[in-house]
Amino acid sequence: MVLLLRVFLLVLLLFLLRYLFQSLVTRAKIALFGRPAASDPPHNVITGRAHKDPLCGTYVAEELAIKATAAGQVHYFCSPECRDRFLNGPGT
Ligand SMILES: [Zn+2]
Repeated sequence: MVLLLRVFLLVLLLFLLRYLFQSLVTRAKIALFGRPAASDPPHNVITGRAHKDPLCGTYVAEELAIKATAAGQVHYFCSPECRDRFLNGPGT
């Protein structure tokens, strides 16, 4: 019975050591590289601004928007259809 208890404590100690080692490695990586390791999944963050499509009212990210200049002003659209309808007027 004492032997069983000792084995149990040993396994518990090993798990604790493994956990401590892993957290130390993670902290060392952050300290060295200033961020989690490159193997971590990337964060898909759009850093640009959002613009309102003047035709349908949808907000679109600047990188993804369809741009058109009208009367010296840049407009951002969600789709080529919205751009064409805005530039050519309604009924087209
Ligand atoms: Zn639109």
